[in-house]
Amino acid sequence: MATDTITAISTPIGEGAIAIVRLSGPEAITITNELFSGKDLHEVASHTINYGKIMDPDTEDIADEVMVSVMRAPRTFTREDIIEINCHGGMVAVNRVLEILLSKGARLAEPGEFTKRAFLNGRIDLSQAEAVMDLIRAKTDKAMSVALKQMDGRLSKLIAKLRQELLETVAHVEVNIDYPEYDDVEEMSHEVMRTKTKEVHQEIEELLSVAKQGKILREGIATAIIGRPNVGKSSLMNTLVQENKAIVTDIPGTTRDIIEEYVNVRGVPLRLVDTAGIRETEDIVEKIGVERSRQVLRESNLILFVLNHNEALTKEDEKLFEAVKGLDYIVIVNKTDLEAKIDLEYVKELAGDRPIITTSLIEEEGVDELEKAIAATFFDGEIDTGDMTYVSNIRHIQLLKQAKQALEDAMEGIELGMPLDIVQIDVTRTWEFLGEIIGDTASDSLIDQLFSQFCLGK
Ligand code: GDP
Repeated sequence: MATDTITAISTPIGEGAIAIVRLSGPEAITITNELFSGKDLHEVASHTINYGKIMDPDTEDIADEVMVSVMRAPRTFTREDIIEINCHGGMVAVNRVLEILLSKGARLAEPGEFTKRAFLNGRIDLSQAEAVMDLIRAKTDKAMSVALKQMDGRLSKLIAKLRQELLETVAHVEVNIDYPEYDDVEEMSHEVMRTKTKEVHQEIEELLSVAKQGKILREGIATAIIGRPNVGKSSLMNTLVQENKAIVTDIPGTTRDIIEEYVNVRGVPLRLVDTAGIRETEDIVEKIGVERSRQVLRESNLILFVLNHNEALTKEDEKLFEAVKGLDYIVIVNKTDLEAKIDLEYVKELAGDRPIITTSLIEEEGVDELEKAIAATFFDGEIDTGDMTYVSNIRHIQLLKQAKQALEDAMEGIELGMPLDIVQIDVTRTWEFLGEIIGDTASDSLIDQLFSQFCLGK
């Protein structure tokens, strides 16, 4: 178990009214107390916040005026003593406070190390720890509520329940194998196994079937806006961004060449990909041909295909229709404030059962209908995160799939009438895969790797 005292700035880098430096470990209180001019922090009650100053030991000047929260183990996030120093003096002062703490024997925390300690000390399980990470990165309210629920242990509880059922089944069969007094024991055990594996299999399938939605919530729906020059693509992008609270557009720690805008359309997180790329898609079909552009467009989850109400349909428009055939797209006939020169009947024919929305972006008309159509494309209306347990984490999805496969192997064995001690091997594998989700059977290296993905100070 880790026994040194770690520290980091826990608030985002940048200018803010306050910034928090956090310490966790056995020396957290002692180190802080040495620098603190205020009450003796060894004497104050746990879970109190205390006003004072952090003194610079080199210059004997005030480094910053602060509020210090003292939280004693074990009732803390890491189950260790935790100190949180609320600094007021901007980034320079915060960095100075951090430096002083480091010079007094605290160690700079690795990314995710606070959460890792919480996990190692049994405060949270692995899927909850990952939820902390999701929460930091959540870009929409819905994604946030999914992460919050996971942190709350919903997924963990469900997984634990399934594992318990598998364990009981194995135990039940074990007992029967050990006491084969009755002739029909083998038969009965097969029946128990068959019923139980089926039940668990169904639950895993349900989790996986909502996983796609979970992934979308987490990452946003990759949305491309295409159409000929001048039809209104940039205007559409601007309208969507302005009407809907734009969410975080910058993910710390990633360098990206392409520009992305996140917008939240009726709870549906859209990731509008690459504004520059929008301009390129104008002649994408001309440049690379219908087949290749189809491949490119297939990477989007949603295509907003803009046409000009004020112009007759062109060859290029028809080629674009070909390129989006079979994909999830919405046709937007824009500039309805201008004279109708497009043949709407023909557009309908080309679009088949895909929705067609008419808009005048300049007069802000039709935007509501468009947003409704977007929401309906993905979730038949609003997304309901109320009762569902969403699995949105790639690692979890992978493990669920492995668990499902192992369970199917077991089910096949049962149907083939294989001896139950053989079938049990697959049931045990299922149990292990599920365990990895909550970190019960996860290896150390996996744990290290997972926590290293966190931001500093978490
Ligand atoms: P893009 O080249 O497809 O990105 O098109 P833009 O969004 O730059 O729009 C091209 C021009 O059409 C601009 O001058 C817009 O102001 C104008 N425009 C966009 N939407 C409408 C509309 O609904 N009605 C009218 N009359 N003009 C529009």
